[in-house]
Amino acid sequence: MSLLDLYLEKSGEINPQNASFAAKDMYLFDFTTNFRTLHSVEEGFRTFKKIGEMTEEERQAYMEESPEKAKSFVNNMIRTKLFVPRGGKPVLTVKGEVFEKFLGERLSPDDRWFIDFLFVADSYFSLKTNYIFSRTREVFDAWEKAGYTVGQIYNALIYLFNVHDVSMEEFLRTEYIIMITFRDFPEFLRAYRDSNEFEKNALHEYIVDNYSKGRYNCIVTSKFAPGALIDCETVLDDAKILFFAHYIDGSNPISLEDMLDTFEEAYTRFYRINAKRVMNFIMMYEDVFRMTYLNLFSDTREFKLDDKIIAAAKEKFEEDDLEKALIEPLDYTTTETLELLGKINSMFSVAAKEATGYKCELDGVNRCRYFTDKDTGMPYLEVHQIIPRDYAGEFDVSIERASNYAALCPHCHRLIHEATDSERFRALSELYRLRKDRLDADGIVPTNELLFAVYGIEQQKLQPGENDFAKPLLEAAQPKLAAGKGTGKQTASKTKKAATVKKAKKR
Ligand SMILES: [Zn+2]
Ligand SMILES: [Zn+2]
Repeated sequence: MSLLDLYLEKSGEINPQNASFAAKDMYLFDFTTNFRTLHSVEEGFRTFKKIGEMTEEERQAYMEESPEKAKSFVNNMIRTKLFVPRGGKPVLTVKGEVFEKFLGERLSPDDRWFIDFLFVADSYFSLKTNYIFSRTREVFDAWEKAGYTVGQIYNALIYLFNVHDVSMEEFLRTEYIIMITFRDFPEFLRAYRDSNEFEKNALHEYIVDNYSKGRYNCIVTSKFAPGALIDCETVLDDAKILFFAHYIDGSNPISLEDMLDTFEEAYTRFYRINAKRVMNFIMMYEDVFRMTYLNLFSDTREFKLDDKIIAAAKEKFEEDDLEKALIEPLDYTTTETLELLGKINSMFSVAAKEATGYKCELDGVNRCRYFTDKDTGMPYLEVHQIIPRDYAGEFDVSIERASNYAALCPHCHRLIHEATDSERFRALSELYRLRKDRLDADGIVPTNELLFAVYGIEQQKLQPGENDFAKPLLEAAQPKLAAGKGTGKQTASKTKKAATVKKAKKR
């Protein structure tokens, strides 16, 4: 079968009437409705700033007038860490203040694009941590599964950077258009990759001809039909994001300086960016970019206790500041917060361990394993944040509360991060139920959907009935956590704990 015939066969499976539906999966990066391209970050920022400056009544009226639009701006801007919710109102973070200064800079569109990219690089759109990077990995994985090498993918992406003012016809003739459309169909991609130039040309000619005659009745053209809500710019934007995210991610920078060197190399080699101007801007606001770097490349969620940080924090922050920080949502984009977090961390780590008498929080429902910490002579425990800091923006209150810190043995801690979805759900829902009342009292009330998103658990991979973090699993259907069988003693204390939870819920 020729490549074109194979393509037409695939096209027969879609309904050309439903073009906008077909176009949906053309967006690689799901920034939600009003945030389709990277450039629109700036527009979103301006709109959201206006919302922040409105009076309570004005804000209510605006939200009622266009709730969808308002909501998507609010969610996106908080997820970019440019705003932090405070007293039900969006307030600029330090990063947001720098972004505002950036809007006044005279930079070329390419330079602007790149800085926009840096500002949103550590965002958690679609409730995925470091969304741009994790999404990029998914897309590259799909292409590599179809037999493409990273070099081949780079060539297809870089080719697009240098096509000035690309026409639709030109665009429809690129290899990228096939790669992006068929990324979830490795068999077709493989057939395309293995075809000769003659066959590839025949396919691209057909697509261009079909488009220029306004027929839109094959897979690619249907995505660009009038009303399909997609254009070249969006797709090219995605290609640029893919390239830079993968390039930076793959260079594994060990310091901010390393990351900046990588940027400079990427601009000069592949893209029309004025590296000097962009570097100057970054260096002027180094602290903000250092935080972005930390969010991207180091595990800030599990701080080690550092006496120096604690000492510095003690000097800098009065007890009052600390108290306030625990109630008000924190601005996680400042280096000062980093120091404060050192203090908060040490405080709650000790508190969490002492509250359980140096036992794992899941002791009794799981098979915990301990060893002695060489520094303290106590059982070694790790501290886990039930709501991680990336999701702090989802709450109008601070998540830096004792209720959000749980002491776990290394076995349980690894389990809830690394095990299969089903095993993780069982452990995490046990943990969440043990903590729910205390979290609720502190105003940290995540929805079930948020918890599934936070822990990256796909519900369809779970057993029927495993659909609610707050609901105890049916006793009969409740399998033992982790591998192996629990002892009779463990089962007894598990039943006791379940009863306690039930009682607590009734109150
Ligand atoms: Zn444990
Ligand atoms: Zn953890």
